[in-house]
Amino acid sequence: MLNGEKKIERPLRWGMVGGGRLGQVGYKHRIGALRDNTAFKLVAGAFDIDPDRGKDFGMNIGVEENRCYPDYKTMFAKEATLDDGIEVISIATPNGTHYEICKAALNANLHVICEKPLFFTSEEVLEIKELAEKKGKIVGVTYGFSGNQMLLQMRAMIKKGDIGEIRVVDLQYTHGFNATDDADKYSDAQKWRVDPKIAGPSFVLGDLSTHTYYMSQLIMPHMKIKKLLCDRQSFISSRAPLEDNAHVIMHYENGAVGTMWASSINAGCMDGHRIRIVGSKASLEWWDSNPGELRYEVQGKPIQTLVRAMPYLDDICNADERLGALHVEGLSESWANIYLKFAIAIDAKDRGDEETLSKLIYPDINAGLEGVRWVENCVRSANNGSVWVDFVEALDKTF
Ligand code: NAD
Repeated sequence: MLNGEKKIERPLRWGMVGGGRLGQVGYKHRIGALRDNTAFKLVAGAFDIDPDRGKDFGMNIGVEENRCYPDYKTMFAKEATLDDGIEVISIATPNGTHYEICKAALNANLHVICEKPLFFTSEEVLEIKELAEKKGKIVGVTYGFSGNQMLLQMRAMIKKGDIGEIRVVDLQYTHGFNATDDADKYSDAQKWRVDPKIAGPSFVLGDLSTHTYYMSQLIMPHMKIKKLLCDRQSFISSRAPLEDNAHVIMHYENGAVGTMWASSINAGCMDGHRIRIVGSKASLEWWDSNPGELRYEVQGKPIQTLVRAMPYLDDICNADERLGALHVEGLSESWANIYLKFAIAIDAKDRGDEETLSKLIYPDINAGLEGVRWVENCVRSANNGSVWVDFVEALDKTF
């Protein structure tokens, strides 16, 4: 169980690029990083594409005026001259900026925590992976709900054989916020998501399903996709060539089959993040509407609901528990868990503690590479007429 006590010697000096006043995801980063007050300390930021708004915002969240920078290049240069300059930055900007900011940060000898989808191409990820290795730095990726401890419970139960051999993997991340064609009312965040120059080669595949794909790998690290078929549409034609809906069929190497539904036009849906794993003996299901519960359905027996924080859960799950039973946990705690693991990874990397690093389960650059590969494979299938394609594997997978 976590109670906020320090896991590393001192909080890491942390800066943010993006995630400013109007940014959708910035606050989630701060919720995650600052939750324990013992892992990160926010000391600097280039929070906004608009320098004045970014400065005003930074000061309003407690960052010193002279460390609210007009842009990330100035921040990296100035901070490098300080004795107590930043050690790590988070990138919470639109997709098309991740690669250049990440590269600049590593070249400024900073650890990096970056939003998903990490970059546009796997070549870019491999280049940055090499640079990070050369610089001795961590690159983490914020798959938000992947810090939910019930996913580790699923991992432990599947490893123990509680559901038997996996046969069917049913994945879904959908919502309905783009069901209508009201482009004139789009926020900036909605606009760039359907512009390939900024969003990259996909919309919902990258925006939504990269989360769920990583979570499936976290739950079933031994399951490798052999081939897949992706069918994607732009129900609102102005979004073409980027899809607002996609179905993917997967064949795994062990004979299991799976599907992923990613959509932003699932009208009315408010809780469309679901993972169901069907084994030869039983099934497990996690659903974001009740993220502290897991349905365990053994064929021929009454359905069981496993509830967070209970002693019957696996140690690996309860180690990431924060509030204890009878109290609701959810997305905020998941972000806090991911950020705590980033801090532990950075600290271990700085100390050369490879043993800690090898045991830590968190979304690292390999998880970022997997997400980019996932999108590449899906887009390749869809763009060739929704044909089966052999899944081109990421390298050096370590989940
Ligand atoms: P957004 O458009 O709402 O916000 C982007 C923020 O970045 C704004 O504050 C903007 O001013 C700032 N910005 C843009 N370019 C900048 C630059 N060059 N320098 C400094 N600041 C800059 O976007 P969003 O929805 O918050 O998405 C940002 C990223 O986070 C995307 O990659 C998206 O895919 C990802 N995201 C992840 C999650 C998650 O759960 N992990 C959720 C939402 C978004």
